[in-house]
Amino acid sequence: METLEYIETKNTDFESINGNYGKYGGMYVPPVLESILKELYEKFKIIIQTSSFQEEYIRLLKTYVGRPSPLYYSKRLSEHIGSKIYLKREDLNHTGSHKINNAIGQILLAKHIGAEEIIAETGAGQHGVATATVAALFGIKCKVFMGKVDSERQKMNVDRMKMLGAEVILTKNGTATLKDAVDAALEYYIQNPNSYYLLGSQVGPHPYPTIVGYFQSVIGKEAKKQILEAEGKLPDNLIACIGGGSNAIGLFSEFLYDENIQIYAAEGGGEGLIIGKTAATLNMGKPTIFQGTFSYALVDENNEPVEAYSIAAGLDYPGVSPQHSLLKDEQRVKYHAVTDKEAIEAFKLLSVIEGIIPAIESAHAVALAIKLLKDKKNEISIINLSGRGDKDLDREFF
Ligand SMILES: *Cc1c(COP(=O)(O)O)cnc(C)c1O
Repeated sequence: METLEYIETKNTDFESINGNYGKYGGMYVPPVLESILKELYEKFKIIIQTSSFQEEYIRLLKTYVGRPSPLYYSKRLSEHIGSKIYLKREDLNHTGSHKINNAIGQILLAKHIGAEEIIAETGAGQHGVATATVAALFGIKCKVFMGKVDSERQKMNVDRMKMLGAEVILTKNGTATLKDAVDAALEYYIQNPNSYYLLGSQVGPHPYPTIVGYFQSVIGKEAKKQILEAEGKLPDNLIACIGGGSNAIGLFSEFLYDENIQIYAAEGGGEGLIIGKTAATLNMGKPTIFQGTFSYALVDENNEPVEAYSIAAGLDYPGVSPQHSLLKDEQRVKYHAVTDKEAIEAFKLLSVIEGIIPAIESAHAVALAIKLLKDKKNEISIINLSGRGDKDLDREFF
């Protein structure tokens, strides 16, 4: 059996969790969906243990996605900050972000289950593109639900999804953004249980946070091996941006039990810590039942979900992962809000000093590193560069 050394193919750590992260997580869905999702979890546990699944997953990660992604010593950024910085280059993956790691894993799951159709939600369109891509790869029909407002902001990704053969279904409900797209996809799923819902972040009802966390954990497994090769020791700090939480947990999970490592995540602070002007869910939200799970969410005084705002469409979501909700309460991970303005500065800086145009989402992590690590000369840090910035170049911030 072909293996990549960095993947523990028989990792069953998640089993003890069983969908609950402390008081967070769970499955708050209508009964029809509950039985489908329970079955999905049982199948997931069995399928990922098989060598046929692991072989195909690993082969595609290597030869289709281009993994392992490099761990790049970012010399000029290190000099600028005064601390040693490595970038985990998820921006170099096929389709331009970490989303494809999860999409590949889940399409294989869908194939093994015998799903006739793939459905997905998308905000910025990155997950929609990743899903349309893997659906094309396997010749499975694909529908992507998207808010109409988002589709107007992200036209290039709508065109990419259509080119890849997916049907893009626009929803005008609510604020016509990501939250409404998730609602539309869940609704369709309830009515079409033979489809497979390929969820894009570490959110939603059990078992999705477990599944997505598992498929993204390849990031941290590679990074651990790479930093040991480069430095002969583990890093002092890890930093990632967080929308739903998938790229962050992907990097962090392999390091959570190394207590000497400080772990930080950058939320989309938007225009500041004001409800309605921010996407900083873990800083400004409350524990609530939201879109199938119990987690922090941005709510108003009546505990109704409110719209999130961030310049980064990938961070612009009023909910967040139940696992990150627990990691916040335990203070294992420190969550900071990074404003639009700080992210734009970091976006421009990384472009001109490293020749790497980051996704505006990832620029939030770079901005946080600049703030936290200034002149920490003897420390080594890894920033997760979750995606590339081509999609952001026609934005008004230039
Ligand atoms: C979607 C996206 C994010 C945010 O999603 P997470 O699930 O929190 O990782 C971050 N960066 C990029 C490039 C994205 O496309």
